[in-house]
Amino acid sequence: MTVENRLLSVLACPVCKQPLQLDADGAGLTCRGAECGRGYRIVDGIPVLIADEELATASVSGSLDA
Ligand SMILES: [Zn+2]
Repeated sequence: MTVENRLLSVLACPVCKQPLQLDADGAGLTCRGAECGRGYRIVDGIPVLIADEELATASVSGSLDA
């Protein structure tokens, strides 16, 4: 937990640069930006700070006619 707290002190949302907050279940991070609020996963103890937009672009590209 100490390590995670130290990580959180230096991590910031890659989109809006606001600090990140550890989810209650410890399985992810949530951006504290009021106008952002993006969620990020933690895989094997390593936060995956990939913006939703990047993931969305990959999945949306094939369904633009929806
Ligand atoms: Zn953000």
